[in-house]
Amino acid sequence: MRIFQKGFNFSQDGPGNRLVYHLAGCNMRCIWCSNPEGFSGEAGEEYTVETLLSECIRSRKLFFSGGGVTFTGGEATLQFDELLSLLKLLKKEGIHTCLETNGSSEKLGDLLPFIDYLIMDIKHYDPAVHKAYTGLGNEVTLQNFAKNCNSGQRQHIRIPLIREFNGNFPEAFADFFAKYDTKNTCFEFLPYHEYGKEKWKTPYLVQDGFMPKETVAAFKEAFKSRGLSVITT
Ligand code: SF4
Repeated sequence: MRIFQKGFNFSQDGPGNRLVYHLAGCNMRCIWCSNPEGFSGEAGEEYTVETLLSECIRSRKLFFSGGGVTFTGGEATLQFDELLSLLKLLKKEGIHTCLETNGSSEKLGDLLPFIDYLIMDIKHYDPAVHKAYTGLGNEVTLQNFAKNCNSGQRQHIRIPLIREFNGNFPEAFADFFAKYDTKNTCFEFLPYHEYGKEKWKTPYLVQDGFMPKETVAAFKEAFKSRGLSVITT
């Protein structure tokens, strides 16, 4: 498994204190990405599944407050077979697992039995806008979202708020999600930041990213008024 960054983080990548693995490679190119160093599947170092399992087992005492292991990226599902193998082994060990994904894997459903907490980004409801800013359409992501709603799978949906990309549409976003059965879904908004800007080797293209506080509040209000669950981590 190829990993370009790893370390502990509390509560922002799933519940409790977690060992977070950033898997190399991503099939999107979001223009605001804060981890562009992980775009390439060649980034970082190679680890065997056994090495990582043993690191997770040794770290067990640090998984306090409901913590465990999180796989993120890049896009973790690009290393599907190794990810599935490790998730199965962690499940056997009783270690809590979380996946953070952009939702683009057609095989996401095969991972779900081994994932205790699912975080999925839905950056935009419109496929054309999504593709223009991330390089990939959102069709599979939305299919996965709909399947999870239908099956009752618990999911934590994260929506990055970037003014020039999706900032004008709080009501349209809320209307879009209100069509689904979201009793097991919660939503979180991630306001734009520029922590990764200096890491870009090609020109950084976001020109108008910061979202006024009032607009972030408008998103929250639009979702809440339609009975959608909004959380902050
Ligand atoms: S999906 Fe995530 S890791 Fe991939 S480019 Fe977008 S923000 Fe970066």
